[in-house]
Amino acid sequence: MSSPRLALHWQILLGMLAGLVFGLIASHFGWIQFTSHWIKPFGQIFVNMLKLIAIPLIITSLIKGVSDLQDISKFSRMGGRTILLYLFTTIVAVTLGLVVANVIAPGRSITEQTRNDLLGNNADGQAKSTQSLQIDKIKAEAAATKSQGPLQPLIDIVPDNIFSASSSNRNMLQVIFFVVFFGIGLILIPNESAKPVKDFFDGLNEVILKLVDLIMLAAPFGVFALLSSLIVEAPGADLLIALSVYGFCVLLGLGLMAFVFYPGLVVLFTGRSYASFFRGISPAQLLAFSTSSSAATLPVTMERVQEHLGVDEEVASFVLPVGATVNMDGTSLYQAVAAMFIAQAYNIDMTLGDQLTIVLTATLASIGSAAVPGAGMVMLVIVLGAIGVPEEGLALIFAIDRLLDMCRTTVNVTGDATVAMLIAKSVGMLHDPPVDHDPTASEVL
Ligand code: ASP
Repeated sequence: MSSPRLALHWQILLGMLAGLVFGLIASHFGWIQFTSHWIKPFGQIFVNMLKLIAIPLIITSLIKGVSDLQDISKFSRMGGRTILLYLFTTIVAVTLGLVVANVIAPGRSITEQTRNDLLGNNADGQAKSTQSLQIDKIKAEAAATKSQGPLQPLIDIVPDNIFSASSSNRNMLQVIFFVVFFGIGLILIPNESAKPVKDFFDGLNEVILKLVDLIMLAAPFGVFALLSSLIVEAPGADLLIALSVYGFCVLLGLGLMAFVFYPGLVVLFTGRSYASFFRGISPAQLLAFSTSSSAATLPVTMERVQEHLGVDEEVASFVLPVGATVNMDGTSLYQAVAAMFIAQAYNIDMTLGDQLTIVLTATLASIGSAAVPGAGMVMLVIVLGAIGVPEEGLALIFAIDRLLDMCRTTVNVTGDATVAMLIAKSVGMLHDPPVDHDPTASEVL
């Protein structure tokens, strides 16, 4: 008799809840060092495992996807629609962020005293220097991006060496470029030469998907370790209160995207139910929340979207890796609210022209953000520069950035999954989900 088994999203939620409770207890009893030395490493190992298979998964599934294509025009149709839909959802997100920031005006709740406290002017020496060191690092990273010419992003897509391109999760677009190029070559050679190469990558793809299942067996423990170490490192209650209106604005915008806009599109255009969409995608959302990295979540997003939402592999293997890199609706929404908040806190008026500049720069900045923790804040520097708001304003929002990063990454991943479903539907490749349950340990092994 098989034992009843909790669905994966419940297992992960339980792991998160246990991490939260343990983190609070550890903070209360001062077990900070114990948690950092003995718990946090397991969270880092879990994230490393996910990142480890992200690039091999993109390579094998995309080669399989491209080489399985019967019809190259279907591919270009899919590519064009994907880019348009990604742009559309990002512009909706930035606009929503601007509307929320204009209506609630979170920066107006910041008094001069609070502003000085947050900028570190009244902080003691050590707290001030740690924060300003981190902000200097963010500014330097952003300056390196800014000093490049307008066509640099295009140059950056084409790698000069595939091994160095695949050596970092920051270069996913370069890997995608090479793999699509390779796949096209594979279509163009005679079938008898292409077949062994295809069979090899098909087999490899199956191995990698099995590794995703294996890693997910450890997910509840991984998120426990991640959450408990985040809680012991969380900012104090005074900072949370000072930034509560700003945090509320970002969360309100993100919540509307995740719970109204995306499921609305799915229900409207694919006929799937609200609940089935969340049942399918929630484990990826919870992982995005725990890891703050769309790149680390990608293997699970791909598995869930194919196996539980019924998107054909041909579509998922192209749309999702591209989306994890360029489609960051949560990040762009956050950048719009943060830019408005900082401007308001400095009493700088944002004209309609400035706000249109925010729409443009936040859209581009979110496309340019790497799919790793904190990347959205680096690119925010560019948005601030474009509207003439001091970069020092980053210090105002720094304290709660990690918390908001967790939430915006969840939205980024949900946006990618939504677009994958819409594209699949539009090209007739949205199937009934092949499995309706999460594999048990004995099935995986
Ligand atoms: N952490 C986000 C992601 O990986 C990017 C950001 O910092 O907004 O999607």
